[in-house]
Amino acid sequence: MATTNHNYDKLGAGYLFPEIARRAKAYAEKHPGIVLHRLGIGDTTQPLAPSVVKALQDAAARLGKTETYTGYGDYEGELFLREAIRDLYRERNVELGLDEIFASDGAKSDSGNIHAIFDADNVIAVQDPAYPVYVDTNVMAGRTESYNTVTGQYVGIVYMPCNEYNGFFPELPTEKVDLIYLCSPNNPTGVVATHEQLKRFVEYACRHKAVIIYDAAYSAFINNPSLPRSIYEVPNAKECAIEINSFSKSAGFTGVRLGWSVVPKSLVAVDAPAGKLNALWYRRQSTCFNGASNVVQYAGAAALSPVGRRECQITIDYYMQNARIIREGLKSLGIVCHGGDNAPYIWAKTPNGLRSWEFFDQLLEQANVVTTPGSGFGPSGEGYIRLSAFGHRDATQQAIAGIKSNLKFG
Ligand code: PLP
Repeated sequence: MATTNHNYDKLGAGYLFPEIARRAKAYAEKHPGIVLHRLGIGDTTQPLAPSVVKALQDAAARLGKTETYTGYGDYEGELFLREAIRDLYRERNVELGLDEIFASDGAKSDSGNIHAIFDADNVIAVQDPAYPVYVDTNVMAGRTESYNTVTGQYVGIVYMPCNEYNGFFPELPTEKVDLIYLCSPNNPTGVVATHEQLKRFVEYACRHKAVIIYDAAYSAFINNPSLPRSIYEVPNAKECAIEINSFSKSAGFTGVRLGWSVVPKSLVAVDAPAGKLNALWYRRQSTCFNGASNVVQYAGAAALSPVGRRECQITIDYYMQNARIIREGLKSLGIVCHGGDNAPYIWAKTPNGLRSWEFFDQLLEQANVVTTPGSGFGPSGEGYIRLSAFGHRDATQQAIAGIKSNLKFG
C-alpha cells in the first residue's frame, strides 16, 4: 500500500510563477488584442554566443560517427569543463582541485539537492526574500512544520530578513542554525554581498561548524571589481561553504542546461572531517545523476573560452543596459529601486504602501506589464516587486514607456 510524502502537503501556495502566468493569461483573455510586456520571469531571451553554437554543432557531429561517439562520461563532469571552471576561479585568485568541482544540469538541481547530504535535523536559515527552491526543497525533505499563512513562514526555518534597514543583506542569525543559504547577487533583490558581509558569515559558520550554501548563479553580472564573485574570495570559506553556479544566465543556457557546484575537500561539519562532505556529494551525484549532457559540456567549455567569454559579455552588457532602462525609468517616477547595477534584477518598492500583488495588478491593468510580486519570495518581500532585465530591448523599452505614461499614482 503506497503512501505519499506528506511533507509535500505542507507546501504553501503553489509555485509563484504559475500564479503570475494565470493572472496574466486571465487579463489577456479579458482584453483581446492587448500586448503584454513581460518583465517577470528571469528567463533569458538573447541567442547563444556563436562559439557556443559551433561547439554544440561540432559535439553533435562527433556523436554521429562511430569513431568519435562517446556515451556516459564522468559523473562529476568532463575534465576539460572542470579545468575551464577551475581557471575561472583562478582569475579571482581562488585555487580549486578538479575533484572539488561537480558539473550538473543546472543550479536549480544542485541548490535543490544539496540538502540531501545533511541530516534531517539540520536547521536551515534563508535570506528573506530568497529564490524559493531553498525553502521548498527543505519543506519536502521534512525539515519544517507547516506553513503559517499569517506570517508567510514555515515553522522550523530561520528567516533572515533582508530589507532597506540592513541594505538587503541579513544580520547573523541569533539562534542555532546549521545550513545557511546565501545568494549573491541575490534573486530577487539584485543586491550583491560585499567582502565584509560575507566575511561575517564565514566567520560565523566556521565558529559554529555550520555550512553555507552559496548560490552565485548571477555572479557574471557583477561588474564592480571590488565585489566578490565567489565566496571563496573570503579567507577560510573553503572550510565552511559550498558554492553553486550556472551557465543559465551568464551564457543563456536556461534551456541548454548546465551548472556546477564546488564542494571543497576542506569543508567540514560537526561530524564530518575534511573530505567527507566532498565524498558524500560525489556519492549522492553518482547514485542519482548520470552526468550533464556531453554535448552541452562542450558548449559550456566554449562559453568559458576567451572568445566565448567575450561573446557572452556582449549579451550580459545588453541585459545590464535593460536593467538601466528599467531602473532609470522607474526612478524618474519616484519609485525607489534597488539592485540592477551588478545584477539583472531590479527590486522596486511599491508606491503608496501598496502590497506586492496590488502593485502587480496595477502594473498589469494600467500598463500591461507583467512583473513578479516580491511577497512570493518570502514575507520580507512584501511591499516590493521584482523586474527582470532579461527581456528583449524593445519590449523592455515599451514596458517602461507604458508604465511612465499610464501608471496612475495616488
Ligand atoms: N539559483 C538562482 C538564484 C536562480 O535565480 C536560478 C534561476 O532563476 C537558479 C539558481 C536556477 O539556475 P539553473 O537554470 O542553472 O537551474
